[in-house]
Amino acid sequence: MKVSEIFFSIQGEGVEIGLPTVFLRLFACDLRCSWCDSMYAVEGRDFKEMTLSDVKRELERFGCKRVCITGGEPLIQKKELEVLVRDLLGEGYSIVLETGGHKEPPPVFWHESCIISMDCKCPSSGMEKKMRFDLFERLRPKDQLKFVIKDEVDYAYAKEVLNRYSIKANIVFQPVYGTSLRWLAEKVINDRLVGVRVLPQLHKVIWGDVRGV
Ligand code: SF4
Repeated sequence: MKVSEIFFSIQGEGVEIGLPTVFLRLFACDLRCSWCDSMYAVEGRDFKEMTLSDVKRELERFGCKRVCITGGEPLIQKKELEVLVRDLLGEGYSIVLETGGHKEPPPVFWHESCIISMDCKCPSSGMEKKMRFDLFERLRPKDQLKFVIKDEVDYAYAKEVLNRYSIKANIVFQPVYGTSLRWLAEKVINDRLVGVRVLPQLHKVIWGDVRGV
């Protein structure tokens, strides 16, 4: 597998925010979000080729059975990833898959010990036309749909998506790094979006915009 990095930190995003987690960041992405904060895992040569057993050994090193698979876009390496995830689930791991909202997660990710965290890319990303809204409606109540919001246009778009589609998953509104969390929180309160969680990227609050945390 092409691996960008493996590290141990706290979960900085979504419904598992704050929980100690091992991160497996896979290399390569077929989207190009304007505000991407992990371009080192999207293009270039900054990755390591690792066998599945190498990856497993590295994950085990931290003694934590909670793993977040992120990227880049992890589902680009779907075949190998399915084998790895099946193996990890068999050993009692719980998994969060972070994926871009344009690819269908294979059956193994719909396991009860796996949370699918899907992005709905808003207009500021430049990727909104690539989204698969049918997938958003298939997410389970334990999964999450995350809107990364930069401005008023993104906010209005997110509200429109929530109105139009029947989504059972947890909804997260997260400001683009540099956009005001307070602005976003006040919008959600004023509009009485009572089912929406407004969350920061906690790792950036703690450590700033640096790699490997
Ligand atoms: S999908 Fe994620 S990794 Fe890919 S370009 Fe967008 S933000 Fe970056």
